[in-house]
Amino acid sequence: MKKFNPAKLEEEIRKYWKKNQVFKESLEKRKKKEPYIFLEGPPTANGMPHPGHVLTRTMKDIILRYQSMKGYYIERKAGWDTHGLPVEIEVEKKLGLHTKQDIEKYGIEKFNRECRKSVFEYEEAWVEMTNRVGFWIDMDNPYITLENDYIESVWWSLKEIWKKGWLYKGHKVTPFCPRCGTALSFHEVAQGYKEVEDPSIFIKFKIQDEDGYFLAWTTTPWTLISNVALAVHPDEWYIKIKYDKETLILAEERCTDLLKGKDYKILNRIKGHELEKKEYVPLYNYLTPPKKCWYIVCADFVSMDEGTGIVHIAPAFGEDDYEVGKANDLPVIQLVNPDGTFPPQVKPWSGKFVKDADPDIIEDLRSRGLLEGVLKYKHQYPYCWRCDSPLLYYAIESWFIKMSHLRDALVKNNNQINWYPEHLKQGRFGDFIKEVRDWSLSRKRYWGTPLPIWTCKKCQEQICVGSVEEIKKLSTNFSHNYDLHRPFVDTLQLTCPKCRGDMEREEDVIDAWYDSGSAPFAQWHYPFEKEKFQKNFPANFICEAIDQTRGWFYSLLAVSTLIFNTAPYRNVLSLGHILDKDGQKMSKRKKNYVQPDKIFNQEGADAMRWYFISANAPWHPIRFYEEIIKETMNKFLLTLWNIYSFFATYASLDNFDPKKDWVPMDSRGFLDRWLVSRLNHLIEDIEDKISRFELHKAARSLEEFVINDFSNWYIRCSRKRFWAEEATPDKYAGYSTFYHCLITLSQLVAPFVPFISDYIYQNMGETESVHLQDYPTSNKTHINISLEEKMREARKIVELSRSLRAKACIKLRHPLSRGIIVSDVDLANLEDILKDELNVKEILFESSCDPYMVKVARANYSTLGPKFKKHASMIAEEINKLSYKDALKGKVTVNSQDFFYDPEDIIIETREQENLMSAQSEGTTLILDIDLSQDLKDEGFAREIVRRIQEMRKQMDLEMNESISVMVSIDPERIKKWILYIRDETRSGKIICSENVSGDAVKKWEIEGEIITIGLSQG
Ligand SMILES: [Zn+2]
Ligand SMILES: [Zn+2]
Repeated sequence: MKKFNPAKLEEEIRKYWKKNQVFKESLEKRKKKEPYIFLEGPPTANGMPHPGHVLTRTMKDIILRYQSMKGYYIERKAGWDTHGLPVEIEVEKKLGLHTKQDIEKYGIEKFNRECRKSVFEYEEAWVEMTNRVGFWIDMDNPYITLENDYIESVWWSLKEIWKKGWLYKGHKVTPFCPRCGTALSFHEVAQGYKEVEDPSIFIKFKIQDEDGYFLAWTTTPWTLISNVALAVHPDEWYIKIKYDKETLILAEERCTDLLKGKDYKILNRIKGHELEKKEYVPLYNYLTPPKKCWYIVCADFVSMDEGTGIVHIAPAFGEDDYEVGKANDLPVIQLVNPDGTFPPQVKPWSGKFVKDADPDIIEDLRSRGLLEGVLKYKHQYPYCWRCDSPLLYYAIESWFIKMSHLRDALVKNNNQINWYPEHLKQGRFGDFIKEVRDWSLSRKRYWGTPLPIWTCKKCQEQICVGSVEEIKKLSTNFSHNYDLHRPFVDTLQLTCPKCRGDMEREEDVIDAWYDSGSAPFAQWHYPFEKEKFQKNFPANFICEAIDQTRGWFYSLLAVSTLIFNTAPYRNVLSLGHILDKDGQKMSKRKKNYVQPDKIFNQEGADAMRWYFISANAPWHPIRFYEEIIKETMNKFLLTLWNIYSFFATYASLDNFDPKKDWVPMDSRGFLDRWLVSRLNHLIEDIEDKISRFELHKAARSLEEFVINDFSNWYIRCSRKRFWAEEATPDKYAGYSTFYHCLITLSQLVAPFVPFISDYIYQNMGETESVHLQDYPTSNKTHINISLEEKMREARKIVELSRSLRAKACIKLRHPLSRGIIVSDVDLANLEDILKDELNVKEILFESSCDPYMVKVARANYSTLGPKFKKHASMIAEEINKLSYKDALKGKVTVNSQDFFYDPEDIIIETREQENLMSAQSEGTTLILDIDLSQDLKDEGFAREIVRRIQEMRKQMDLEMNESISVMVSIDPERIKKWILYIRDETRSGKIICSENVSGDAVKKWEIEGEIITIGLSQG
């Protein structure tokens, strides 16, 4: 039989699939069946695929193969996410461009051409990985977010939102990446918080025309340059104090906290609102403000939990600040460049990145005597999830979608979705949508779907365009060879429908998350083509990694709620992260992961797939490294291979033909019927587990069946009949069972390990791929609960026998004379199996152990404890009166008083003292007679010889039916009785006992302390 070589086997199967177009055929076959709608989350192909992608593709494939075998028609359109900053960043790096000015100098058209090229740079690697992992998806007809048709659908949807009045241009404080030069959306920011340590400083603001200072607090010293006001809480108490020769004003509650144990004197108590309008001297004055500023305002958000109760206000750099500014008609002073540096007006720090200027500003304030103290402040600060720069909060002009108006609709639509794991629904995801903010949609960038909004230069009329047809009508210079990206759209001359004036496009492109969120309809070019979308919405199933919770899972629901007011998917499986061997997150930077290719070439895709599903629940993190996948391969796949191998070997020796030699179920023995019963139970079990995406539990049930039931029990107990040379009816019953179970098993595991399953299935004589078959259904008439219970009991007894033999140092191969079984389960039918597995000459079933046992309940004070001391001998006597079984219960009644003891403390001895041993488990007892007669010893010895000969056959790579002759260095008298037995077991023509052993292979063995030489020759 061939050795298991996964890489070679998988290559063979891949070629077969390709040559016979099996994927296509599997679709054809189900074309008229009910659809199961899958939506592919589009990856970006501008980087190499990593293990996380392999995991996602595996999980999707398993579910889709399974549902397909269950009879559903599943169209599987691949997708590519092609727009957005990550692409631009890569191209900038490649071209050596550093700023937006650089890009514009280089030329937007050329730049975008490079972006378009780069998104498919690794396409080949992706296709290759997809093939290797066995993911069946239509990569020949993918949806691509950069295509004109796709963009047109996105435009249509934006116009729908526009028509509802939910698309607006706002001034809003938005998280802004100074490096990328663009705003980030709320859910993008949610992905990039880090804990950092920033300075937190206490600053003194001199009160105008009065002695003393307002003591304020901030964690962003660089925003002090743009300060316009100080805010107090109107209803809190503030105090004026004398401290360290200075007069300070701060909140009373904060003062007791900050100056605890310090020496200060309270001069005055004031309510917050009494301070309103009091003016102070600005710290910096680099700009003449256009409006009145630098005075105290009131705000309810001022907290008494931290700081001084007086908050520095810079409306350009904080959402609360912006609102307070608006309410009090304060100017917006924004002394920061879009790239995050100070402008020329801020002379001392002009050109410096604002956060880097913090220490200088602190030093400046200190030298001017305006600094009261500096502390370190640990807090969560947002970073750009793409380029890792710290974000700044900026008041900028941007286009928004009014998601905050749709909170209730989002919640309602989320309720239509089944989340796996369930806790995400109301937890991480549910919390997020309840607090959702307006979607900052526009990006001041180049490579993306252009915002289809034009403004009239003359009358300011704005229009949102929803189709190419519409543009053509409005534009005077639309060319047929068009590309809806920048700069083509920027050059279009549109005429204002109101005043016939010239219109100009808003320069922005849109958030790429909106593109992928539009996939349900844009992939089918809806509504310009209607049918495909209508048949494929909503999706039954989507699956991505957990980091998509606030990414794609959200943008899909958001867009669908905006356009259709319904959920775009019914079931979402959110996968755990991939970790390295030490439980660290995999990162491109650290390169702490093994390349998937290496696994494909060593252990194979099946081993990796099996590991992914069997190690953990799909939503839990999973460690990924080569050794663990190798372990999985050895444990499960190799066992499966060996089962198949065993069958292939013996069935071909006997020319078993399932059509001709089939033995019907009711003519088969208990062991066969048991395996078939277990198989049908397994089928029910798997269906139940997969319906809840509990793939790990389905995998465990399969492992239990393959390893414990099939390999370690059924084959173990059946070996003998398959080894037998003559073809008995029982042997054919066994082959029939084996064949049926193995074929069914290959179908059951097909979605999980698609390569080895197809290999086995086809090599069992089937002419079609296993993936074109229906998934097995359980045949309830073959489930036999009582037989399964009996077999469970028998296996328990075999376990007892193993532990008894280990205790007595008697090998399993050595036969014993008797086994005595005391059990509540009727095991008469399984006597033969038990005899073999216990390796005893005789089995006795008894209802009680008492004929074989005596109890010697010794009055052992130390173990029974002082409580027993007084009654020890009486108790011992009572215990001795109990039956063996009752004695094990650990309770005895003496003079109507109950005494409890540990049965371990009662020494139970056999009646015939030395030759009986017993063990018990859950009410079942096994007694073994371990007396070894000379006959039994000789038989054991003969078995040892057999094992060595078999071992040598294997080493010589002999076929099962190949005949051999054997020489052994043993006194012939000693094995006289066993010669025939040895010959049969080893398929040897003759056995010669001789001092001088020769042969094709000669080996010395140590058997029970003796050195025995064995020689083997072919023929
Ligand atoms: Zn950035
Ligand atoms: Zn106009």
